[in-house]
Amino acid sequence: MIPHSQPTLDEKDAQAVAEVVRSGYIAEGEKVRALEKKTAAIAGKKFGVATGSGTAALHLSLLALGIGDDDSVAFPSYVCSSLLQAVRASGAKPLLIDIAPDSLEMDIEDLEKKISAKTRAIIIPHLFGQPADIDPFKKFGVPIIEDCAQTIGAKCGKMPVGSLGDMSLFSFYATKVLTSGEGGMICSDSEDIVSKIRDRRAYDNKMDFVQRFNYKMTDIHAALGLSQLTKLDFFIKRRRELAERYEREFSSLPLSLPRRIPERESIYFRYIIRIPVDLNIDEFISRMMDAGVVCMKPVFKPVHQLLRQDGFPATDWAWERSVSIPIYPGLKEEQLKIITTAVTRFPWKGEKPSF
Ligand SMILES: *Cc1c(COP(=O)(O)O)cnc(C)c1O
Repeated sequence: MIPHSQPTLDEKDAQAVAEVVRSGYIAEGEKVRALEKKTAAIAGKKFGVATGSGTAALHLSLLALGIGDDDSVAFPSYVCSSLLQAVRASGAKPLLIDIAPDSLEMDIEDLEKKISAKTRAIIIPHLFGQPADIDPFKKFGVPIIEDCAQTIGAKCGKMPVGSLGDMSLFSFYATKVLTSGEGGMICSDSEDIVSKIRDRRAYDNKMDFVQRFNYKMTDIHAALGLSQLTKLDFFIKRRRELAERYEREFSSLPLSLPRRIPERESIYFRYIIRIPVDLNIDEFISRMMDAGVVCMKPVFKPVHQLLRQDGFPATDWAWERSVSIPIYPGLKEEQLKIITTAVTRFPWKGEKPSF
């Protein structure tokens, strides 16, 4: 079976981890601080704060903004449920927004209709490796948290993803672009925000009581993250090569392939295809499975469906049509042949979707 996603690990990664273990200093220490500095540099921000996961980083960033029970936080429904969990953990109400009908990005018109004085943050995910357009969302005057969990190293024009909003979130989970096993990071230029996040990341040795957590990263994890970071350019280059290969092989099929947006070049964390309306996505996924290729819906279940809300037609449409096929630096030529043959030989019928 060709897995849907896979970390790209080598002997150097193993050595980096082993060195920390041999040193005897395994908790949060200098490796964590080095990973914070390097990630902040990639994000074009002054500071980085490492956490045990992206979800923990997001939770702390909402708390640092002073967000709580009476507030709402806006984000698109077509996203991983981590956002829902972090927003609910802060006490705030999730304000779900549909995606635009011709992209997988948050629909600014829907946000315009729903936003209120209680909306204290907007989380904008750069999904699947594709940088989102952040600028139009600045007019609301509400803090923007860029969710870069799937786009580390991507650029908008000359600006790195992560530098465009007020804070930026990263994840180093096993199958993300880079991994530390588990791990997350929040980057910001604000000393005040960063010191609040640092304070609440750890509970021990404090003079007063406020709600704090154990959301720390260890040096073992950070060492793996640092080793992976040295390969970021190679990972991105390889992902783009694979995407070009898919684009060539699939161009004559009735599929909608990822669009290339000038100045916002994707790093292809996922390769998302949209299938014709006459076809059933589950049938496609099961046929690919029969051919030895694991494909998945890129969003397991949209957030509005988890919360049993309706009125998200573009999200529902994308969810029913979109499938993610394996793309990661470790894919070998024989695996690529199996994947492209399986997709090409699928009994396609119907019109290519308009988007
Ligand atoms: C993975 C991911 C997260 C959460 O990160 P974890 O490290 O798994 O907690 C948040 N947002 C997006 C878009 C993600 O892909």
